[in-house]
Amino acid sequence: MRFCRFDDNRLGLIEGDTVRDVTDAADILPDVRWPLPHGDLFLAHFDAVRTEMERLAANAPTRPVKDVKLLSPIANPDKIVAAPVNYQLHLDEARTDTGINFGSGVKTIAECGVFLKATSSLVGPGEGVVADWSDRRIDHELELAVVIGRKGFRISEDDALGHVAGYTMGLDMTIRGTEDRSYRKSLDTFTVLGPWVVTADELPDAGALDFELKVNGETRQKSNTRHLVFDVPKLIAVASKAYTLHPGDIILTGTPEGVAPVVPGDLMHAWFEGIGETEIRVRGA
Ligand code: MN
Repeated sequence: MRFCRFDDNRLGLIEGDTVRDVTDAADILPDVRWPLPHGDLFLAHFDAVRTEMERLAANAPTRPVKDVKLLSPIANPDKIVAAPVNYQLHLDEARTDTGINFGSGVKTIAECGVFLKATSSLVGPGEGVVADWSDRRIDHELELAVVIGRKGFRISEDDALGHVAGYTMGLDMTIRGTEDRSYRKSLDTFTVLGPWVVTADELPDAGALDFELKVNGETRQKSNTRHLVFDVPKLIAVASKAYTLHPGDIILTGTPEGVAPVVPGDLMHAWFEGIGETEIRVRGA
């Protein structure tokens, strides 16, 4: 299954180039009141809502995907976990390029572990990225994004994939500079997720996916997830050693070589084998 969120918080199923509006499936979600439980409500009840989406699909109205505004397919993640320098060639370029490292030594992922991005930075492809710090270099980082489906703490690598609901792609937008990663990567609109989530049953092996990011038609990043230094099971183990992972939590797995600046007006085109493709506009405000 491929599900998305679009327009005014509508829920969709993707079939080829069309989206089926199955928003009413969300009616089965429980009414919650303050204080809200941890985790994304939709993912926490995914089995039930999935059954309801499938039931409604046959009679659901359809729209061309190109005509809808794609939001982040996950509305309320508890956490956005991200992996730093998780491709060797990106580590090499980060150590070489002072425009990336700002004179500080770049540690390996084994040394620095994972970090967190503010959930308020999350948008979908249709919302675009705001790049309005004109005095600073703002880079794209295209990454495989893992969506957690089952709560877990201290998850072993062997058990890790059993906690994955599905996959999508993520842009971990970044201002280069001396500040901590969590600050430079948490500006509003600096986490783009989408265009939809492909459930894990449709993508049993995310460990060997080609992917590519173009800006204004020019290839900037092109790699394969087989080059991850810490693979998906290891990232889940490292993250959950520190904190409980909840349904809807996101893990951005790191970016390959080719990170480079974007400016307002640029059009990014992201493609992932087994997931799909989408366009993201860079705006000045
Ligand atoms: Mn990144």
